[in-house]
Amino acid sequence: MKTEFSLAQLADPDIAEADKILRACVHCGFCTATCPTYVLLGDELDSPRGRIYLIKEMLEKDKPPTQEVVKHIDRCLSCLACMTTCPSGVNYMHLVDQARVKIERDYARPLTERALRAVLAFVLPRPGLFRAGMILARLGRPLTALLPTPEAGSKSVSASPTLLRRIKAMLALAPRRLSPRGAAGGSVFAAEGTRRGRVALLQGCAQQVLAPRINQAAINLLTRHGIEVVLVKDEQCCGALTHHLGRDADALARARANITVWLAEAERNGLDAILMTTSGCGTVIKDYGFMLREDRDFAAAAAKVSALAKDITEYLGGIDLQPRQQHRDIVVAYHSACSLQHGQKITQAPKELLSKNGFVVKDVPESHLCCGSAGTYNILQPDIASRLRDRKVANIARVKPDMIAAGNIGCMVQIAGGTSVPVVHTIELLGWATGGPRQGLN
Ligand code: SF4
Ligand code: SF4
Repeated sequence: MKTEFSLAQLADPDIAEADKILRACVHCGFCTATCPTYVLLGDELDSPRGRIYLIKEMLEKDKPPTQEVVKHIDRCLSCLACMTTCPSGVNYMHLVDQARVKIERDYARPLTERALRAVLAFVLPRPGLFRAGMILARLGRPLTALLPTPEAGSKSVSASPTLLRRIKAMLALAPRRLSPRGAAGGSVFAAEGTRRGRVALLQGCAQQVLAPRINQAAINLLTRHGIEVVLVKDEQCCGALTHHLGRDADALARARANITVWLAEAERNGLDAILMTTSGCGTVIKDYGFMLREDRDFAAAAAKVSALAKDITEYLGGIDLQPRQQHRDIVVAYHSACSLQHGQKITQAPKELLSKNGFVVKDVPESHLCCGSAGTYNILQPDIASRLRDRKVANIARVKPDMIAAGNIGCMVQIAGGTSVPVVHTIELLGWATGGPRQGLN
């Protein structure tokens, strides 16, 4: 794609990067076929190629984004299916990240929308506040019946859903009960038997409130297999939530804080890896090196952290797990989270681990399509998100599973909202198969 940035514009490293990405696009349109919003809405401007044109125009003209551009960028899930499909290696992720930052900086959203985004950006990364928010949401759940909902079977998608519609979506995501808090930062879990390794486990922010049992399962499994686990003190939210809202100053500050405490831990006591059980976080932490590439003080450290970052299933692939229980008849539909399959290109490891440990694993039809969770997307774009969830749940039902496994808490909550089939984390199944408790599997 031909671009027309001025030399002055190209002196900005971000614009130079955007120019490189845009020039790689040959507008073949292969990406449109796997883009969930194009598949649902059929509008070229809701396809990756359409959005690439909009972003190109917005960056070249260097003017405040128009309402039309914001509508189509906001509808993008950042699922990255387009990157998996693109034959030219277009890095859409870095392009749309840049577009979101520009929109956040230069576009005046309506007051209610600004307020909602500010609340989400403030509350979600803070587990204490998020927990309090979930308690309030549970109390407010009965009110959802009074709030507006799209007509049954309606295919219409609101360009900007009302605040009440979004609040309804938010309340619907609140769990019916909250688990007690998990282990605190600073905790160290010793390896059983001979120590074979030492890892940090990301505590996550939303996950530690919604499902602390996931990290507990990871800790149990790792320590049983000789791996010492540390929950690093003073670790923060990885920054993914604010990064996807275009609030890069917040996201980068969190990245720097995490890099500092993780590398201090690595220097003091050694770390073989920094593990994530939430693939949405993993994709961003693996991108810290890029995000901080222009920061003289942090670029090298960020690259080091990105190299240490691993999804839990990626790490377990290198460990000889010891199955202790047989589950030959349990059919597991494996939901491949976008952040894992498209963001981190991890597609086979989770399925292989489940199969090796006795489960009958089924691929879900249209597995490349997002479930509609996508960070805060299911709150900000509830109409598209619920249509994607319904499509995902219908596809899952086709393989008649006993359970659904996924590697990302956002997907788990989203899918569980549309099915009665139990939704668990891959690590919970692996933990159970290798002698751990049957937690989360009732
Ligand atoms: S598939 Fe890649 S090269 Fe083709 S239009 Fe999409 S982004 Fe551009
Ligand atoms: S990230 Fe997902 S929703 Fe956005 S353009 Fe790419 S495929 Fe479409």
